[in-house]
Amino acid sequence: MRLSNPLKLLIPVQEIHVETIVNDVVYSKLLNFVRIHQPICLVIGPNEHFLKVLFGADSLEPDTYKNILKQRYSHLSKFVRIGLHTHLYHKYSLTKLDYDAQFKKMSEGKQFLESIGLKIIDFAPGWYNYDENTIKTCQKLGLTRFHAREKLYDLSTSKIEFIQVRKFTHDYDL
Ligand SMILES: [Zn+2]
Repeated sequence: MRLSNPLKLLIPVQEIHVETIVNDVVYSKLLNFVRIHQPICLVIGPNEHFLKVLFGADSLEPDTYKNILKQRYSHLSKFVRIGLHTHLYHKYSLTKLDYDAQFKKMSEGKQFLESIGLKIIDFAPGWYNYDENTIKTCQKLGLTRFHAREKLYDLSTSKIEFIQVRKFTHDYDL
């Protein structure tokens, strides 16, 4: 068998940032992938407006959008572990927000996922950008598995486990 890109296959994808699951083609590819590889899937809440616009889902009514996310996340959770992923808006990361705003955003996302019956302890910030407020928020929300490229803070006195991410992909890149 000839492999078109052997390197791509050698390093397994640790996690997928799920941002376009509302798209049927993306959803179907994602399901195929997770059935075989079982990476953790970090998913966004319904409050990530810029992503909704960016991926052409802006015309969907908020409730319709929410219901599609709920249904698809719930199905996805039968195959893989689900965590929370969040963004602020395009080109900006959570670090532009103060503690209260980060807390609001992340707790909304977590509550949404819990409303489908998922237990959420994993968190990956958008573009892996974060600051001390992000860590503080994770502590507060019981998001004890923190996924990022680099460990920027000493977490030894916290209950947070640092998960170093070497390879991830987006659902729309599968
Ligand atoms: Zn992302």
